[in-house]
Amino acid sequence: MSGDLILRVAVPAPLYSCFDYLPPEGVGLDGLLPGVRLLVPFGSGERCGVLLELVAESEIEITKLKPASKLLDTEPLLGQEDIELLLWAAEYYRHPVGDVISSALPVRLRKGMARATTGLPGWGLTAIGKEQDPLALTRAPRQAEILGLLQQHPDAPLSQADIYLNMDGECRAILRALEQRGWVESCEIVPSREERLGEVQVSTPHLNRDQQAAVDAVIRHGTGFQAFLLDGVTGSGKTEVYIALVEQVLAAGQQALILVPEIGLTPQLLQRFQQRIAAPIALLHSGLSDLEREHAWSAAVRGDAKVVLGTRSAVFTPMPELGLVIVDEEHDLSFKQQDGFRYSARDLALVRARRRECPVVLGSATPSLESLRNAQVGRYEHLMLLKRAGEAVPPRLDILDIRSVNLDAGMSPVLLRMVSEEIQAGNQALIFLNRRGYSPLLACYDCGWIAECRRCDARLTYHMGNGVLWCHHCGSQRRVDSTCPECKGEKIRPLGQGTERLEQVLAARFPDTGIVRIDRDSTRTKGSLHRLLDEIHQGKYQLLLGTQMLAKGHHFPNVTLVGILDVDQGLFGADFRAAERMAQLITQVSGRAGRAEKPGRVVVQTRHPDHPLIHTLVRDGYGSFALEALRERQSALLPPYSYQVLLRAEATRDGMPRSFLDEAMELGRSIGGSGVEFWGPVPAPMERRAGNFRAHLLVQSGSRAELHRLLAVWLPKIRGLKSARRVRWSVDVDPQEML
Ligand code: ADP
Ligand code: ZN
Ligand code: ZN
Repeated sequence: MSGDLILRVAVPAPLYSCFDYLPPEGVGLDGLLPGVRLLVPFGSGERCGVLLELVAESEIEITKLKPASKLLDTEPLLGQEDIELLLWAAEYYRHPVGDVISSALPVRLRKGMARATTGLPGWGLTAIGKEQDPLALTRAPRQAEILGLLQQHPDAPLSQADIYLNMDGECRAILRALEQRGWVESCEIVPSREERLGEVQVSTPHLNRDQQAAVDAVIRHGTGFQAFLLDGVTGSGKTEVYIALVEQVLAAGQQALILVPEIGLTPQLLQRFQQRIAAPIALLHSGLSDLEREHAWSAAVRGDAKVVLGTRSAVFTPMPELGLVIVDEEHDLSFKQQDGFRYSARDLALVRARRRECPVVLGSATPSLESLRNAQVGRYEHLMLLKRAGEAVPPRLDILDIRSVNLDAGMSPVLLRMVSEEIQAGNQALIFLNRRGYSPLLACYDCGWIAECRRCDARLTYHMGNGVLWCHHCGSQRRVDSTCPECKGEKIRPLGQGTERLEQVLAARFPDTGIVRIDRDSTRTKGSLHRLLDEIHQGKYQLLLGTQMLAKGHHFPNVTLVGILDVDQGLFGADFRAAERMAQLITQVSGRAGRAEKPGRVVVQTRHPDHPLIHTLVRDGYGSFALEALRERQSALLPPYSYQVLLRAEATRDGMPRSFLDEAMELGRSIGGSGVEFWGPVPAPMERRAGNFRAHLLVQSGSRAELHRLLAVWLPKIRGLKSARRVRWSVDVDPQEML
């Protein structure tokens, strides 16, 4: 037979190859464009795959090939360029190609469902519903609330998602009750293209000299590929630079892709883009329903959405007119997926821009050492915003030596006094403690017993609010024992500080002060973070305390004092990136405070005031810290001066991960490669987690190419090992966390 009539299909499965099929019966070749979905027979069932290409020959004899069952799309979902990026990523991260391609699609499309032509589920008032008085519904307050909500705009139905958001949670039953009364009815809401156009705010700050220079540098460069590192302290106006660049791109009729770490944590950033950018924006993040996600995705694919603003996986959104990629807070760990397909969205953003031949801007107040290194050697153009924009002046940092100081809830008397002074002066103070819960330990004062997770090598965190012991690693919970399981004594006490306990102690100490706690526990319900942030800005609280959630994206101009408790863990963490992370966190938290007439002051409590890295950070700032940390990395030949791949293995039986990794290492050594080193195998820093024993093998090389040459030969051989079937194992290319 001649002609290309074999379909090469990426099928989601833990297998590293594609699969060949014949066209479905009755389907002509002209409908079979790469990027369409096909239902194909697979094993004993059927799966939804994506057509990658048409080929003339298969390794399998043509008479043995099965026809695909069904063509699911009339036009491709993915363009050639999108497919190529995904294939590149599958190869680079060594992940099964079918999984990679499928993970780039919205969930509904992944499952083989038809593309949504309908709108979002919504609810509107009926004619009688418009006339009801919600106040009369005294016995059904939640129904009254929804009725009141809809009556604010009686002729504009609301999407179900918006109603849930306003009601702080799912409320289908209440809607049904209102429907039965005949007051509301379900409807479809089709998101309109012009939806956002009405909200544009005209006032635009005049860019300062540094900002203008940054914008000019990118524009001067033109349209080809170039990476820029926009390195500017918090509040220096990076977001304004992004907006100016996006406007340029839109004026040229192109699309812009903006990646941000976690949208849920930065509602203010989102609002700002929506208010300032005069074009439809598609949002892609995990807070959306599957249908909402698909609508946003489709708008980007059609080119209707000019800007895509999304988290990690948005990096794969097909955008036919893409002209600019922005990665905000490029140092943030959440750009790296930590399980399954372990890609880095930041790194893929660079790959995508290079292939697309368009500029990419990485922005951060605390750039990763990787990016700083790339800027040092000239691979990225380094753009600096040295001053805070607008009125704010930078905060002053001081070290507070807490050796041999009696702490109260983790706070030194000096810090407590400073807090009290700020409160008396009518300012806000922010206390940062990166540990949620009441206390990280529950211990017996008689025998020294400590509550530990039965499934992990980890202590249980005591959460007083709901009275449970909670493992932050596997999620298991249990009730607090009232007597010690070892000695039957009754002196069981919490030890150490968590945000919950800190809140309690501060509340007792400052009884007349409004205190707010921001952490994952206090913001669990949808919309609550948004509400708390609003209340902070309205001045409802004078004392703010919380975890790293407070370090992200928000400005608190009335905060004049930031106290950072407990940074010492970061200095001696198991991970070589621990110090970098700690410095980023301190700098990010510090940057939240102050403005011109009320400059901020930052106090870092430590038991290691002479540690060189802390010293440099506090005295000379993040930039100097980073240079010193880079020198340390260079002398230790650690990334970014080398490249790593981490092989992880786990099993319920002790010893198995280790013997598997031993065999894998032997194979790897026999293949070799110049300058490739094997470190390990070693037990993972947390050896037992969720009932599994875990071990690591680290492979490192000064040459990325050498490392990947090894992987290409090595991994297929590892898959053939008998011991590989007795463990769960995975490959992490460019690992970011060693846990
Ligand atoms: P970053 O993203 O670097 O943290 P932002 O863009 O959020 O900084 O800017 C911080 C604050 O300064 C914002 O309130 C912003 O409106 C204001 N701002 C930014 N650029 C200017 C400017 N050129 N003139 C006046 N105010 C500005
Ligand atoms: Zn005991
Ligand atoms: Zn656990």
